[in-house]
Amino acid sequence: MKAVQIQKPHEMSLIETPIPTPPAGFVRVKVKAAAICATDLEVIDGNIPANYPLIPGHEWSGIVDAVGSEEDAHWIGRAVIGSNDVVCCKCDACRSGNWRYCKDFEEIGFRRNGAYAEYVIVPSYGLAEKPDNVPFEEAALCEPLGVALGTMEKAGAKFGDTLMIMGAGSIGLCMLAVGRTMGMRKIVVCATSKKRLKIAEQMGAYATIATKEEDLMAKMAQYHPGGTDVIIDATGIEECLQSCFKLARKGGCVALAGYGRGKMMSIRVDDIHVNNLRVVGAGNNWNQHKKAITLMADGVINLSAFVTNRIRLEDFETGISLARTRPDGFVKAIFVHE
Ligand SMILES: [Zn+2]
Ligand SMILES: [Zn+2]
Repeated sequence: MKAVQIQKPHEMSLIETPIPTPPAGFVRVKVKAAAICATDLEVIDGNIPANYPLIPGHEWSGIVDAVGSEEDAHWIGRAVIGSNDVVCCKCDACRSGNWRYCKDFEEIGFRRNGAYAEYVIVPSYGLAEKPDNVPFEEAALCEPLGVALGTMEKAGAKFGDTLMIMGAGSIGLCMLAVGRTMGMRKIVVCATSKKRLKIAEQMGAYATIATKEEDLMAKMAQYHPGGTDVIIDATGIEECLQSCFKLARKGGCVALAGYGRGKMMSIRVDDIHVNNLRVVGAGNNWNQHKKAITLMADGVINLSAFVTNRIRLEDFETGISLARTRPDGFVKAIFVHE
């Protein structure tokens, strides 16, 4: 099969490799769509722990074409999405439902080969059926949508809360879609430049702020006087985090959904301490993909506007460069297999 492999950080190529065979408990999925994620760029650059050589790709959908155990035979031929979490299913963490804390945890697309390929091997326990009315390209976005669902849950976000989102990449935009659906109020989306904010405006943001061009603090004082109920950082950037802690209302919540690239950062602790902020880590979001596909199938959340660039595996360099430069109107480059 064809696959895009990272041999080591900064070295990537299209390879020909044998079609993998699923071991017991796993299935083989013929990939129909696989989205390029900003996190994949960190894997390519060597900023996230991964096992190289690696086929990246954790946002996928496809059709099951082989199984490793007879008991999974009913999946053959079915259109699916699924969890990327490979766990033991036996330890205390797994049995409590917090399987991301499993001591044997490995994630497809990071420690294990992912979906930038014609086929991917995934665990059968994480599968969910893809209803016919959700196109494969959109179904592949269940993963980032699941991050938004999990983050909102951890933040305790609720109807009528004001929301500010730092970052207008696909995670930030998924947060906007979920916040709007939940009936959150006066949702403000921030990014460095206006061109990245157009789609947020189209998706119904109450306001957007281009932080390199406008005064963030002054604008927010105008939009959310007294501070914001729920703030989500989807950037992992030091100065963005510093602003988040200053902009939350007293007793408000700041949810951290952006990867900090292992960096040490300075924050003003008293912004949190004095104002009794609740700060939640939202780096791991499990058990959300079934809810995500159901919300899409029922028409509650529509991410069709995210599918901006369809590409082939052969065009991976174009896709990666689009994901890096994010030109005007770009949200997601998605590998699509006919
Ligand atoms: Zn992702
Ligand atoms: Zn476990």
